[in-house]
This record gives sequence, C-alpha cells and structure tokens, in this order.
Amino acid sequence: MKQLVVSICLILSCVAASAQSKELIELKNDSLFISKVNEIVQKQTDSIVADCIKENPMTEYWNTRVFNPYKDVVVEYPFKITFKDSVYASPIKRRRRVVTSRYGWRRGRPHRAIDIDLITGDRVYAMLAGKVRYVGYVTGHGRIVVVRHENGLETMYSHLSRYLVKRGDVVKKGQAIGKGGTTGNTRGSHLHLVVTYKGEYLNPEYLFDFGEGNKIRGRELWVTRKWTTPYLHNSRRQSKIQLCTTYEEALKSKQTQRKVYVVKRGDTLSEISTKYNVSIASLCRTNSIKRNSVLKIGQKLILTQ
Ligand SMILES: [Zn+2]
Repeated sequence: MKQLVVSICLILSCVAASAQSKELIELKNDSLFISKVNEIVQKQTDSIVADCIKENPMTEYWNTRVFNPYKDVVVEYPFKITFKDSVYASPIKRRRRVVTSRYGWRRGRPHRAIDIDLITGDRVYAMLAGKVRYVGYVTGHGRIVVVRHENGLETMYSHLSRYLVKRGDVVKKGQAIGKGGTTGNTRGSHLHLVVTYKGEYLNPEYLFDFGEGNKIRGRELWVTRKWTTPYLHNSRRQSKIQLCTTYEEALKSKQTQRKVYVVKRGDTLSEISTKYNVSIASLCRTNSIKRNSVLKIGQKLILTQ
C-alpha cells in the first residue's frame, strides 16, 4: 500500500514537472518575458548582496573595554561619510572658540587632533548624537570619552578632568559628556578633539568647519588618504579644504596628491631641492623648517612644485 502511494506521488510530480517545462518552453520564445525575468532576478540578487554587505556601524566592533577596537580592520580608500545634520554642536561653549593647534605635523611628530582652548572645569559637549563607547584613562590622552555616531564616526574628547557619562549611555547632540582639564600629556588645559573612522584618524577640519556657524561641510563627503595623513598638514595653519562629494572626485584628487620624500643618510636640502626641482624656500615653507635645519633620517618632507 505504502509503495503504491509513493509511486502515485512520483507519477503526479512528474506530470506536474513536464507541464511546467512545457509552459516554460512556450514562454521561452517570448523575448520580452525573458528579459523581464532577468531583470527581476538581477534586482533580487542585487538586494541580497546589498543586505549582506550592509554594516551596522553602531554594533560592528562595539567594545567598551578597549580604546581602539578596530586594530585588525583595513580601511579601503576613498571612503564615504554621510551626515543627516548640516550643523554640529560646539564641543566648547565659550564666547570665543580658539583653536590652538590643528591636525598635522607638529615638532617632528604627528598631531592627530584639533586642540581647542578651555579652562579646567568647562563643560565639554558631544558634537553629534551617539552612544558612549569608551570612558577611561588612556596614556597621552588622559581621561577620555569616546562617542560612536550613527555614520560610523567616533569623536573622542581628551584631557578631561571629570566624566559626566558612562559607557553605553545614549547621548544627544550637544549633551555634556565631561569637563575639560589637563589629564594626560598636555602643557595646559585644552580639549584635544579626535575624529576617527574605523580607527583611522581624520583631520576634523575636513568634515567640520571650526569657523563661525558650526557647519558640517557636506551631507556626503569622500575621504582620501590626504585627510588621514598628518605629514600632509601643518598643525600651525589650516589646510586648504577641497571637498570630494563624489567617488569620482575622490579618485581624481588621489592622483594630484602631494609627493612625500623620506630623508636618507647624507641628504641635504639643496640636493633634494635640485633632484626634485623644488626651491629650498618652498621646501622650508611647506615643511615649517629653516634653511639650516638639520635633516633627520626618516623625516618626511613634502615636495611641492
Ligand atoms: Zn592636541
């Protein structure tokens, strides 16, 4: 009996399958139908692929115990940062906001932040809404609060004297997160403001205008290596900002990046100047060095034409 039922089922399914294939053969001749099917399949595949690669920056590499959870992440360039807002909240609410040092090369070392003057005890505010990922003491930074934002950026507020939030807190844009101070490696009270994306330190001025109006420079900004490389900037002056708002622009600007020369044993300024057809005056100006400065092996010099 069981065998009979199984055979009937098999026969029925074969009939159904042959009917189906017959239908398909008939429809096969209809080229419009075929292209429509292809279109639907393509759309479905695209959406599946998109779902697979869609990341959630609020949960990815979320770790409240380590300062930098992105250590094994390799970031591909150029990358895009998107903003929903057109303005940010000022991290310091003094009448006059003074930038004392910028992202770039400083005293032979990279300075990967922007420094804003404050008096110990001044409140420090979250620039954008987000979630507090890290609160703690980090060598150099002192007491630090790290806020993760929806677009994957992290803003880090260093040298604090007090914390006003704890790990995991959801913060609004402009909410006080701590009080400024001098903890860590600092010559005086100021806010050392760091902006990172997946562990890459960005020049904050590429995204945020620290002049009047607290403007975010664009809704979609493409970041090239230039904006995460300190020796392409000078901490004493603002770099010329040329925004890339499309992928194509970012690719183009990559090609026009400035060349960097790494000093070797026995190099002199005049030799480098002749070899690369750059005047000594230009080399000194771009690199904030003097004509009689001693070049160090491994020092990076920017070559401008
Ligand atoms: Zn600093």
